Amino acid sequence: MSGTHAIGVDLGGTKILAGVVTRDGEVVRRHERATPHTQEALFVELDAAVEELLTDEVAAIGFGIPGPVNQLTGQIFEAVNTPIADTDFRGRMRGRFGLPVGLDNDANAAAIAEWKAGAARGYDDVVMLTLGTGLGGGVIIGGKPFRGSTGAGVELGHVVIVHDGRPCQGQCTGRGHLEAYVTGVAATAAAQEAFGPAADAHRLVRLANEGDATAREILADIGRHLGSGMGSFANIFEPQLVVIGGGFGMAAWEWVIPSAEEIMRREALRPMRDEAKVVRAELGTAAGLIGAGFVAFETLDAA
Ligand SMILES: [Zn+2]
Repeated sequence: MSGTHAIGVDLGGTKILAGVVTRDGEVVRRHERATPHTQEALFVELDAAVEELLTDEVAAIGFGIPGPVNQLTGQIFEAVNTPIADTDFRGRMRGRFGLPVGLDNDANAAAIAEWKAGAARGYDDVVMLTLGTGLGGGVIIGGKPFRGSTGAGVELGHVVIVHDGRPCQGQCTGRGHLEAYVTGVAATAAAQEAFGPAADAHRLVRLANEGDATAREILADIGRHLGSGMGSFANIFEPQLVVIGGGFGMAAWEWVIPSAEEIMRREALRPMRDEAKVVRAELGTAAGLIGAGFVAFETLDAA
């Protein structure tokens, strides 16, 4: 099927970001709504976001969901901070709008967007890491999004980098996971320990920018932990490119990424050690909705 436009919807814990996206990843119209807290209200708001953008030129709808998605059944296993667990999400949306519906994890969607229309355009093997309040990630292998057997995608934030280390965030029962060490939340905790209860990740980055040696060392240490994860990902996925995005990742880049890269190259074996380049994401907060648009186009092209 052809189809020149799709609606991409990025469902976040606080906001629903939706947009009409072209096949080049250009966002031609946008709409934003607050994320409500009950399942019934959430579907009302999602429907309204789609309706706001729906025209005859729209051929498919894609959703980026903050949690694992079963691509085979179109169900969502659980979604962080949003009330849509255990629903036949894809079937419900297909029925509601009479259009093909694509579904993906939001971190996968962001990785697809950077690969198709952002920092990783033209590369076949990419690892994307989004450092915000959590750590999301997505992988492109051999010019295709890697989604595993159920299509739930990869959970790059939940690899162990410290045996029996810090407890993980949210519902995760694991310890020593990458996510516990390298997010804005981890940076805020470290900042408060060093600078008192009023400090947070923003202040930590500002202090580092102003030349504070303690702040710079805290961020470099976060970077070294990130590098442990990146080195392992390099050994597993052999990426040509590691793309770093997310609010915290972008703000703290200068203080986190050099030490991350140093450790990544120490841990990675050849040829990954020399090949993998580390670059900034380009699409910012629009990555999720653009990626959801690409996921929508995927359903048309697979048909
Ligand atoms: Zn975890």
